[in-house]
Amino acid sequence: MQIKFCGADREVTGSCHLVKTSNNRFLVDCGMFQGSNFNEGRNHDDFPFDPKDIDFVLVTHAHLDHIGRIPKLIKEGFTGAIYMTEATCEFAKLIWEDAYGIMKYNHRKYNTPILFDENDVAEAISHCKGVKYNKKIKIEDNIFAVWKDAGHIFGAAFIEVEVSGKKIGFSGDIGNENVPILRDTQNLDELDVLLVESTYGDRLHEDIDTRRSIIHGLLKRGIQKGGTIMIPAFSLERTQELLYELNLLIEHDNLLPNVPIYLDSPLAIDATKVYKKFPSYYDQKAMCLHKAGDDFFEFPNLKMTYTKEESKKINRKKGPKVVIAGSGMMNGGRILHHAIRYLSDSNSTLIIVGYQANGTLGRRLYEGAEKVKIFGQDVGVKCEIKAIGALSAHGDQTKLVNWVNSGTKAPKKVYCVHGEPNGVTELAHKIKEALGVESYVPEYEEEVEV
Ligand SMILES: [Zn+2]
Repeated sequence: MQIKFCGADREVTGSCHLVKTSNNRFLVDCGMFQGSNFNEGRNHDDFPFDPKDIDFVLVTHAHLDHIGRIPKLIKEGFTGAIYMTEATCEFAKLIWEDAYGIMKYNHRKYNTPILFDENDVAEAISHCKGVKYNKKIKIEDNIFAVWKDAGHIFGAAFIEVEVSGKKIGFSGDIGNENVPILRDTQNLDELDVLLVESTYGDRLHEDIDTRRSIIHGLLKRGIQKGGTIMIPAFSLERTQELLYELNLLIEHDNLLPNVPIYLDSPLAIDATKVYKKFPSYYDQKAMCLHKAGDDFFEFPNLKMTYTKEESKKINRKKGPKVVIAGSGMMNGGRILHHAIRYLSDSNSTLIIVGYQANGTLGRRLYEGAEKVKIFGQDVGVKCEIKAIGALSAHGDQTKLVNWVNSGTKAPKKVYCVHGEPNGVTELAHKIKEALGVESYVPEYEEEVEV
């Protein structure tokens, strides 16, 4: 059996791994490459395989960099089933439709190419099959797969695949410790081979227990300054975790002044509904709140602005306010309309709560750019910029190494993917050093025998 690395190799986006067995070919994830443009040029390149030869796709979770090229796969002749958890099915629909909407808008405005159309999206949706956590399913005579909690985003899983008795794990993205709402990352089975993400393979996060107090401190300071607090947030998970924490700070602990908080993202508003639909995925604490009748995604000063008109009105609101809007890496979405207005305001604050890929506006701001370009316009950066590592959706180096070693026996071989060159190299080194496990960093389009 061979694994061909077809994306997220020495970089963090474009996840796609091809597995070739004697009888079948299948993919684990098929995501978009993301960078300075929403729809990077490389997404339009030919796949390093023929989509018509792929029998089925296994999906770890609904982030665009893991599912974004699936409608393109369909467009180019893939006809098989796409397996994912039930919540991921619902998110996938939202994410693909949203991506198509953004591409259509960009095409109209800047004449950029479109990767797939609404028919491809509808077709992709019709191929999705929902699976339950921890229920091993038979996909082919000799191929079984099981989805287990990754603790990364709602519905996210790592997948353990058994091919003719050999076990291969695909981490997808592995979450941080003690994330609100989500159950913890499950332990690994005894595996022959593991592909592990390395987003924070070279970093350690601050203590997660301080998450709420850091958010509290930053918001309090931002509100005192009287400006706008912008939080670019991924519509899945970061947003809902923020709402959860804000609900506790505001409704339970009464710790923040009553300023308007806007959730300015139709995608995040729709995604929040999926959370409410699957309370069975909640961790114990969220389940207790849910059973006690606490809707932790709503509180009195939260305003959900679904339409463009409602969104535009936010700018007219004087005084301090908090705006949570996508995209999380500021490479598109409504956050740009707020950024163009408030980045140059020294009373305003930008709080970065997620990973910022190379080339994105969020990354440039995080690295201290004094001037940026938004919609072709130069914007001087005067606002305060803060980042909260503890809110990251990804586990840090310690978490990843412990997780790799979480089975009764460590995997025989580990491949480090989904990380920038430093992340993958340092994680591979650490795994070898701490666990004595053979580790390897593959190149794009490299094929290995497993
Ligand atoms: Zn992810």
